[in-house]
Amino acid sequence: MRTGDAILVLNAGSSSIKFELFEATAGGPVSRYAGQVEGIGTGAPHFTARGADGAVLADRRWAEGGEGGAPADHASALGAVIAWLEGLPAPRPAIAAVGHRVVHGGPDLAAPVVVDAAVLARLRALVPLAPLHQPHNLAGIEAAAARFPGVPQVACFDTAFHRSHPWEADTFALPPEFHARGIRRYGFHGLSYEYIARRIAREDPALGQGRLVVAHLGNGASLCAIRAGRSVESTMGFTALDGLPMGTRCGQIDPGVLLHLMAAEGWDAARLAHLLYHESGLKGMSGLSQDVRVLEASGRPEAARALSYFCWRARREIGAMAAVLGGMDALVFTAGIGENAAGVRARICEGLEFLGVTLDPARNAAHAPEISAPGARVRVLVRATDEERMIAEHVMETLRGAG
Ligand code: ADP
Repeated sequence: MRTGDAILVLNAGSSSIKFELFEATAGGPVSRYAGQVEGIGTGAPHFTARGADGAVLADRRWAEGGEGGAPADHASALGAVIAWLEGLPAPRPAIAAVGHRVVHGGPDLAAPVVVDAAVLARLRALVPLAPLHQPHNLAGIEAAAARFPGVPQVACFDTAFHRSHPWEADTFALPPEFHARGIRRYGFHGLSYEYIARRIAREDPALGQGRLVVAHLGNGASLCAIRAGRSVESTMGFTALDGLPMGTRCGQIDPGVLLHLMAAEGWDAARLAHLLYHESGLKGMSGLSQDVRVLEASGRPEAARALSYFCWRARREIGAMAAVLGGMDALVFTAGIGENAAGVRARICEGLEFLGVTLDPARNAAHAPEISAPGARVRVLVRATDEERMIAEHVMETLRGAG
């Protein structure tokens, strides 16, 4: 990988491909373009792209019904992205590597890997562990490998950062054969946590060696306990359902509830999965929306209760993360809710004074980078996460190591 090479980062979901094009520089990857194709397979996909300054450079909708070259699958959506990149004014970026967000790396993959046939087979074997995401991630890899033969494809995993967990944080209280079969607490959002850990360490090397609790609060939500840059514990487990309540996911639930619904009410796995992934969390509790902005603006008691539960559980689990670390030096809020919802941050922190958390209300309202009160024992920080940039850094480091 040489200075000036382009790195294409892809994040392929069920009906969307997000992309970001970075240029490799001596100081690390620099973002040039970003965008997405949404609505793949719906018959009415939508392509948008913007420049590094945020200016909208493309906004294209294909007609309902999929006529006129509308991308119907990941391969053709990637084709639309590539065609747009190739139409950029000269000097056109030559794509030297593609980095992929892959949700699951299984028990062993603790770092990004260059994908070959053997790796792809290994990743395919993990599909049953993440059936909603892994197949789409792999479709993105296959589409990019077909489009760019010979260009390295680097898979970066949401689980990898958590492979430093001690055994106790990695296991369930089941007979050991379940652990051996891969029934473990993998943890997710790892690319976001690794980005935040590195960023804090760059900004303040001493704090980077300290104890951080990071709250990634977006549509998906989890916490991570980090010591000296390494993940020690996280609220997500075998799947991205566990831990905190989320936009539409339930978070921690007594497994006895599921047994009851199955045994006494005849629910099957598909119905349970739909409830737990899509009809629970902020949206399910409020009956209104998963969006914190909508809930805050609503006068409905159900909306207030959903927000109240969200903050309660986040506070409770921050206490657990601090206990695992033996105290905390900083609490970092990130992702859509963490970066923008000052009221939620304030309510989560209320009652954490015993741990040394005290907010400065004016700084919190202004979304300042540091929102703790002057002199507070725990620094409370707000940072934007950037999983795509983390992937681009991984691509540069992986290929530097390989070359
Ligand atoms: P994802 O996990 O899909 O990447 P984000 O990290 O973008 O999601 O978080 C999206 C959520 O962030 C929204 O559903 C909304 O609840 C919340 N959010 C975004 N902007 C604001 C805001 N200005 N105020 C309050 N909440 C916000």
